[in-house]
Amino acid sequence: MKFNTKTIHAGQEPERTTGAVMPPIFQTSTYAQEAPNVNQGYDYARVGNPTRTALEKMIAGLENADHGICFSSGVAAIDAIIRMFRPGDHVVASNDLYGGTYRLFTKMFEPFGITFSFVDMTNLDNVQDAISKKTKLIWIETPTNPLLRVVDIAGVIEIAKKCGALTAVDNTFASPYLQQPLDLGADIAMHSTTKYLGGHSDTIGGAVATSSPEVEENLRFQIKTTGAVPGPMDCYLVLRGIKTLSVRMQRSVENAVQIVDFLKDSPQVEVVHYPGLPSHPQHNIAKKQMRDFGAMVSFSLKDDSIEAANNLMSRTKVFTLAESLGGIESLISHPATMTHGSIPKNVREKAGLFDSLIRLSVGIEDADDLIDDLKQTLNR
Ligand SMILES: *Cc1c(COP(=O)(O)O)cnc(C)c1O
Repeated sequence: MKFNTKTIHAGQEPERTTGAVMPPIFQTSTYAQEAPNVNQGYDYARVGNPTRTALEKMIAGLENADHGICFSSGVAAIDAIIRMFRPGDHVVASNDLYGGTYRLFTKMFEPFGITFSFVDMTNLDNVQDAISKKTKLIWIETPTNPLLRVVDIAGVIEIAKKCGALTAVDNTFASPYLQQPLDLGADIAMHSTTKYLGGHSDTIGGAVATSSPEVEENLRFQIKTTGAVPGPMDCYLVLRGIKTLSVRMQRSVENAVQIVDFLKDSPQVEVVHYPGLPSHPQHNIAKKQMRDFGAMVSFSLKDDSIEAANNLMSRTKVFTLAESLGGIESLISHPATMTHGSIPKNVREKAGLFDSLIRLSVGIEDADDLIDDLKQTLNR
């Protein structure tokens, strides 16, 4: 099956007792058993639920994986992945990480003795230099947030294979429509399904795709033991969202391209970050490993101040000022004060994250309306 067909059919079949074409929301905590331990594959809903199973099979299908495992949130999925490791183990991660991932690694796991090195992965030498005998995992996030840098996934995997470490890719920003890490050799693809997979800003969820039986077994044991499970309603919403993933992504990307075109010629704009621009430093890697360049865009202003950014953001009428991304509606946000507010200014600026940097998650509205919205606020 090709990708668009999979978003509708992967792992899905009509429900057995009624023939319902859509998977019912099995809102139950437990299941009747014919005799102790004789059941129809489900005994207790922390361990499994048919609506969740339908989503897990779909996630596996989209990522070309043998297994999908769903969690109550994206960070719960990341938490479970890191709990596969033990005190003394070492993880190499991108230095340009989702803030919640960075917080989880440094505030939750470092005190328990797992160590982390954060490196600029756009230069593979940095990855190689960070490897030690204790390195068990390389954690990749690409494209990165909010500067949309691109990491060469195959290049990092080559390094990981040589030292025997696993590789995990946070594929939230790209979605499997644009990028399939397992096909490039990664062991794990991870998603915040809250974003593009759910696609409608109405649910929180996480997922892992893997073809490794050991990883699958470990994560299933954790789900059963620690209980970070998504409810059936949330699984249903993500499954429903995935059905339109391809058309939503296509439209969002088309809109993003037009917005980038407008922004790069705007006299008030200093620089536009978008992997689709030939001037983007990793444009060729993006071209190689992504089907298209995505719908996340960021830009900074000639007037590099928080006030200038605030003025712009408070005047948009179609773009909503909010955190998160990947929904049908366009969002605008200010990394320096919102998602990356806890990073000191000099550290931020060294990485290129200036005060006036503005991030857009481009939705599926009409591009003309989105551009008019930016025009009216830039020209004031
Ligand atoms: C949102 C996000 C997460 C965390 O997911 P939640 O569903 O909010 O817990 C992890 N990684 C990336 C890249 C994200 O954008």
